[in-house]
Amino acid sequence: MPIGQVEISAQFADRFGHLPNWIVRAPGRVNLIGEHTDYNDGFVLPMAIDRAVWIALRPRNDRIVSVYSIDYDEPGEFSLDELVTPAIKPRPSVAPPSATDGRGFMSGWIEYLKGTAWSLQEAGHRLTGWDGVLAGDVPLGAGLSSSAALEMAAARALAAAGELPWKPVEMAKLGQRAENQWVGVNCGIMDQLISAAGRAGNALLIDCRSLQTEPVPLPRGTSVVVLDTSTRRGLVNSAYNERRRQCEQAARLLDVHALRDATIERLEQSAGKMDPAVLRRARHVIAENDRTLLAADAMRRGDAVELGRLMHQSHRSLRDDYEVSSDALNAMVECASAHRSCFGARMTGAGFGGCAVALVRAEAAEDFARDTAAAYQRKTGHSPAVYVCQAADGAELL
Ligand code: ADP
Ligand code: MG
Repeated sequence: MPIGQVEISAQFADRFGHLPNWIVRAPGRVNLIGEHTDYNDGFVLPMAIDRAVWIALRPRNDRIVSVYSIDYDEPGEFSLDELVTPAIKPRPSVAPPSATDGRGFMSGWIEYLKGTAWSLQEAGHRLTGWDGVLAGDVPLGAGLSSSAALEMAAARALAAAGELPWKPVEMAKLGQRAENQWVGVNCGIMDQLISAAGRAGNALLIDCRSLQTEPVPLPRGTSVVVLDTSTRRGLVNSAYNERRRQCEQAARLLDVHALRDATIERLEQSAGKMDPAVLRRARHVIAENDRTLLAADAMRRGDAVELGRLMHQSHRSLRDDYEVSSDALNAMVECASAHRSCFGARMTGAGFGGCAVALVRAEAAEDFARDTAAAYQRKTGHSPAVYVCQAADGAELL
């Protein structure tokens, strides 16, 4: 269900009998290139998309946050005084099946709001309670980071009610802390930062060490298409943690603080003393950082062909060296790349399922989406979802 300012406002009015004071919106994202580089202090190049989580809210004069989730058709409530430092909780999506909704997720959505409130309070912010309704159209668990969109929408709502200034980088860090320490997902900073600081018409080159960001425009006449394989894997978490450990091990062996500081030449010199799997992981991360900087250069020049070529290389590296692709993702990327209007395609997000992203000629984007979906379905038997995306602004108060 596409959602917007008018719908969310009407939903709030239905429930509370008056209009909301504020509406906040925080987008999902797709990463164009720079995959599994964020936790190696490297570079990423995501764009915020025109799918978002929305909250309409009105402050209360107590410490209760009371929210109705339209998508789950379920109320959630907590007191800002009950948010004690958590023992790490299991990830909602890996909870026992009995606790899940029809889409395979536990209805743990309130934990993202609690975690964000906890994190803001831990940072010394004084918060106020509010009533709200929550809805979104970022598909859940598809790799478009609905969780970061929810955290940034929650942060924006908490900031509005508590009259805090909106500082995108600080709020992104606090959202990441909520996801790491409250929800228990060991993610990097990319998802929250692009959701907080995205720019319409642009991707954002993010230096995950300094957290400096630079908008880079999408090449003129191109569109970004997200291709959801409609496959999901439960093992993403353990594989992700294993990759992180392997990267840390490679950095230690190369005697650098993080793989961001290593070069391919240095890696080749040390290849003999490395476990072959660790070597491949490091080779992906180091080359992917280089590719991401080259991709930003290509975008500054408006060079869609070069950007597409780099996306293609990125996919091969993720498939062969980082080993986080899947048959479905490979099939989707092959179907996309075979289309005449495609500049390049790759898996995007953590991997093992979820989405691919393609850069295509804008005037042929709808044809590309239809043809690629059909080709993928013939090849795999899965029914994909496709989204032609616009690059949107980051979290905002409307
Ligand atoms: P991803 O971030 O890849 O979309 P996650 O598993 O990290 O997947 O986050 C999905 C979770 O975020 C959902 O299970 C739900 O708890 C929460 N969430 C995301 N969007 C919404 C929404 N519109 N309404 C309620 N909860 C949401
Ligand atoms: Mg997530």
